[in-house]
Amino acid sequence: MSTPNASGWKPGTPVEGHNAMSGPDTATGNRALMLEEPLLFEIGHVETTGVDLPDPGSGANRLGGFERSEAIGLPGLSEPETVRHYTRLSRQNYAIDLGLFPLGSCTMKHNPRLNEKIARMPGFADVHPLQPVDTVRGALEVINELAHWLIDLTGMHAVAMSPKAGAHGELCGILCIRAALEARGDAREVILVPESAHGTNPATAAFAGYKVEDIPATAEGRVDLEALKARLGPDVAGVMITNPNTCGLFERDMKAISDAVHAAGGFVYCDGANFNAIVGKVRPGDLGVDAMHINLHKTFSTPHGGGGPGSGPVVLSEALAPFGPLPYTARTEDGVVHLIEEEDAEEFAKEHFGGALQHFGRMTAFHGQMGMFTRALAYILSHGADGLKQVAEDAVLNANYILRSLDDVLDAPFGPSGPCMHEALFSDKGFAVGLSTLDLAKAMIDEGYHPMTMYFPLVVHGAMLVEPTETESKAALDQFIMALRSVAERAKEGDESLKTAPHYAPRRRLDETQAARKPVLAWNDPDMA
Ligand SMILES: *Cc1c(COP(=O)(O)O)cnc(C)c1O
Repeated sequence: MSTPNASGWKPGTPVEGHNAMSGPDTATGNRALMLEEPLLFEIGHVETTGVDLPDPGSGANRLGGFERSEAIGLPGLSEPETVRHYTRLSRQNYAIDLGLFPLGSCTMKHNPRLNEKIARMPGFADVHPLQPVDTVRGALEVINELAHWLIDLTGMHAVAMSPKAGAHGELCGILCIRAALEARGDAREVILVPESAHGTNPATAAFAGYKVEDIPATAEGRVDLEALKARLGPDVAGVMITNPNTCGLFERDMKAISDAVHAAGGFVYCDGANFNAIVGKVRPGDLGVDAMHINLHKTFSTPHGGGGPGSGPVVLSEALAPFGPLPYTARTEDGVVHLIEEEDAEEFAKEHFGGALQHFGRMTAFHGQMGMFTRALAYILSHGADGLKQVAEDAVLNANYILRSLDDVLDAPFGPSGPCMHEALFSDKGFAVGLSTLDLAKAMIDEGYHPMTMYFPLVVHGAMLVEPTETESKAALDQFIMALRSVAERAKEGDESLKTAPHYAPRRRLDETQAARKPVLAWNDPDMA
């Protein structure tokens, strides 16, 4: 399939004389649209300022002697300098608005502009969590309506809306499990986590004070049910299972797993970050799940590049619902949505959970990520129940198209056992000696793509996890497949130029280990040295 595209260009062959990097040096160091950009500190001056404030005069000093005696030394920039600096930097980055973002496990899908328009409406964008409740009734309606959608889509009993990311939701769920166990005087110490778990799962369990034990995977890439059953006992508080799992496979034994865990007195936490693949098709509540976080920023398409913002509501089973954190939203007989805080919680618990108040506390100071709630609800309402079902179907179809278009050139370790869910997993088996997944990923940058997730999950050697999502067209998938195919062929042939890729990026290969271990975070003025 290494065919030339419409322009006659053949994958793997740089176009002679048409490449920004191949010309003579320029005086500025810039390469046409690729601009070199110094640090703010290097372009700014202490004397420059972008704002014009009146001299404060010599008013009474109320700082009691703690006022600064020297200049702060921050670089001053004019407004155009500031705007250009950040705009130039932004052009050296990759974004979902620039192209397909195949990062597995992250669900980088298009963010509909409608969501953005709704989220920017002043009634939503400008609310403050300390405003009188009577002035934010609409915002509470949004939170409550979204909560109901999440409960319906997952077949669960209640939802804690406040957690601010997937990992934060995991912590919320595990704290609910601990509160439920403590309420029945049952101190259990161990949480079981499969080998293929997302790193946040064992981290969460350990952070909450549990001992973490691995459950092995079968050769098929799924949780080993018999090994799990054998380990269950009175010391096991629960399991944390990602479904679909991080190998991109549906855990078919989920119901049997839940039944076994419940019979042994434990709880089932499901990592729902991959809900994109099953939304509208499967309700985790029907599979016996007790708690599951939903990454609104993944499944319900809210922008989350560069680590934020996120939102990780946690749906809870009937057994765990009484232990969820405050605050709740609830509609009372008068038809109004109320925010249930500490002072109303007891009565609310009596009415809804037939018992005393047992919440474990709260996850955040306020109610959660309002901007994400509005975006997620706009997305859900614009798709409707039928549209969300199609989201899952198309996400799975697109991933299988990638899997089957590449499994003759890339090793797909679980390919033979059937279709995948929303992401396709490949290994580095068959690469020429000396070439690695990292080399292939760097070459994908030259092809104009953000690399796929690499070296995760750990159960596969040199893993490459590709998640196209449902928002890519067949044409976009075909171009990505062509690029990955070409790079994979070069990796198998032993093309040494892969080792020095990327060749065409603003920066070449960086020392990522040093950057992570010894980051240079302070700028020292060379004139002061
Ligand atoms: C993204 C992800 C998480 C963590 O979610 P954050 O919002 O990044 O904290 C957990 N598990 C899986 C499987 C994920 O893909």
